Amino acid sequence: TPQERIRNFCIIAHIDHGKSTLADRMLQITGVVDDRSMRAQYLDRMDIERERGITVKSQAVRMPWQVDGTNYALNMIDTPGHVDFTYEVSRSLAACEGAILLVDAAQGIEAQTLANLYLAMENDLTIIPVLNKIDLPGADPEKYAAEIGQLVGVDPEDVLRVSGKTGQGVPELLDHLVRTLPQPLGDPDAPCRAMIFDSVYDTYRGVVTYIRVVDGYLRSRDRIDMMSTGAHHELLEIGVSSPEPHATNGVGPGEVGYLITGVKDVRQSKVGDTITTSVRGATEPLAGYSDPKPMVFAGLFPIDGSDYPNLRDALDKLKLNDAALNYEPETSTALGFGFRVGFLGLLHLEIIRERLEREFDLDLISTAPSVVYQVRMEDGTQVEVMNPSDFPTGKVAEIHEPITKATILVPAEFIGAVMELCQSKRGTLGGMDYLSEDRVELRYTLPLAEIVFDFFDQLKSRTKGYASLDYDVSGSQTADLVKVDMLLQGEPVDAFSAIVHRDKAYHYGVEMAGKLKNLIPRQQFEVPIQAAIGARIIARENIRAMRKDVLSKCYGGDISRKRKLLEKQKEGKKRMKNIGSVEVPQEAFIAALSSD
Ligand code: GDP
Ligand code: MG
Repeated sequence: TPQERIRNFCIIAHIDHGKSTLADRMLQITGVVDDRSMRAQYLDRMDIERERGITVKSQAVRMPWQVDGTNYALNMIDTPGHVDFTYEVSRSLAACEGAILLVDAAQGIEAQTLANLYLAMENDLTIIPVLNKIDLPGADPEKYAAEIGQLVGVDPEDVLRVSGKTGQGVPELLDHLVRTLPQPLGDPDAPCRAMIFDSVYDTYRGVVTYIRVVDGYLRSRDRIDMMSTGAHHELLEIGVSSPEPHATNGVGPGEVGYLITGVKDVRQSKVGDTITTSVRGATEPLAGYSDPKPMVFAGLFPIDGSDYPNLRDALDKLKLNDAALNYEPETSTALGFGFRVGFLGLLHLEIIRERLEREFDLDLISTAPSVVYQVRMEDGTQVEVMNPSDFPTGKVAEIHEPITKATILVPAEFIGAVMELCQSKRGTLGGMDYLSEDRVELRYTLPLAEIVFDFFDQLKSRTKGYASLDYDVSGSQTADLVKVDMLLQGEPVDAFSAIVHRDKAYHYGVEMAGKLKNLIPRQQFEVPIQAAIGARIIARENIRAMRKDVLSKCYGGDISRKRKLLEKQKEGKKRMKNIGSVEVPQEAFIAALSSD
């Protein structure tokens, strides 16, 4: 298709504002999916996505559309909606000329919409504001058109109104896309440069790479190079999705397509990387490439120790499809063998954990999520700490922690509640704007460590669920942090060590000691539980000694019952962990680690 007849766009929306439904309707109205094979949320392929209503992996679909007798190709690029995937979002946006800003006409703008809108503006996309769900009785298009109009600087009358559910207004929206979006620019005669905006592992075909060609052509016989690594690959197939893959002879400037090279691991085909041809290739890659960097770390341990090899195999499999997932073996005295796993953020952690449990049938326990600290020692050495139990023991000069720029949207009545929460989480207010009379955008700088803990839950509960949050990691700051250890009879229990702000260390110690006291059964002897910063004890509890042993319960009972009890006790012991001379059932650790 010639460039002047191509339009590339994406849809940015808050969760549940109807992106998938609108995308489905577009597929149907343009005829690329017939009514018979249409099923709800055609594009959301992963089950977990469909159930949780989130889009994890972006994809592209080409749709034909006729305006004034001319045939156009509309490429819709589905962006992941969540903050954890900001880098992937930014690459999907970079593959487009325009973005539909889709807003639920009964809800108005939310934080995720804003964050993605700002990203789209940074990428110089043409923004098309659209109100969705106008069929809802509770829709208030006038009110929210004014809100959006003010935000993007258009007349509220020019905000389109559609229903993804009924299809009302959708053909007009497609016409509007053709008329208002710029055609892709790019030099057809230059050496080829194509940007990878997604890369998905498929069991049958290996890695399927989604690309947007910027300059030149990629043809089906070409040999290609990945510019970040210099790796050569042979093109086995190239084509377009509409939405099923169709092989073609090649993909030209401004076009969006997919390619298959036979590589088996998405890390060989990295999002953001530039592809060029091996012969007469480009010398300068496209801008904007960066390696995905895990921000949040947690230990994942199988509850049944014999599942360890299965956990490793499962992680290996997931990694084929997730370049941001990384892990290394970890051994814990409390939890046994497991892995220290790096994630992009909390949602990423949840998704991976859920997939491990659901698709691989593993029962897992995860330690509290932690961020990466840069610790400078007084002797000048620098240590990167991803696991509290690796915190160095010598004299610490300075600790740097990652900080975020957070955007919170709330009804005005909750401003006080949100400010109080942010204050207690070491936040600094950066600014505040009224989006409309009763809705406010608050901008905070907050430590990532505070956000990954329980910030979101607290935000939701303090605002009756009305607040929305988005954040972006942006640099680091020094902070007065200490490592708190939990000791059982003087022995540290690694899984419970935490790096916390000095002001919160006491609270953490008291709470953990109380929890463990209630969960650990009595032993033959008294067991002190202590919380300590280095050698200094900051909290203490005692588990009193047990009075009788198990057999005394059967005093006078018959011998077979005694044997049974002994047998049972042995079984229980298998799942016991020894911390020094204290025997603790693994369940106790698991219970202490799960949030209440
Ligand atoms: P996404 O999270 O943005 O992809 O949102 P979905 O497309 O999954 O839609 C979220 C919910 O809103 C689903 O229950 C949809 O059925 C519903 N929905 C989407 N569009 C419309 C619409 O135009 N009208 C009505 N009444 N409901 C809609
Ligand atoms: Mg969706």
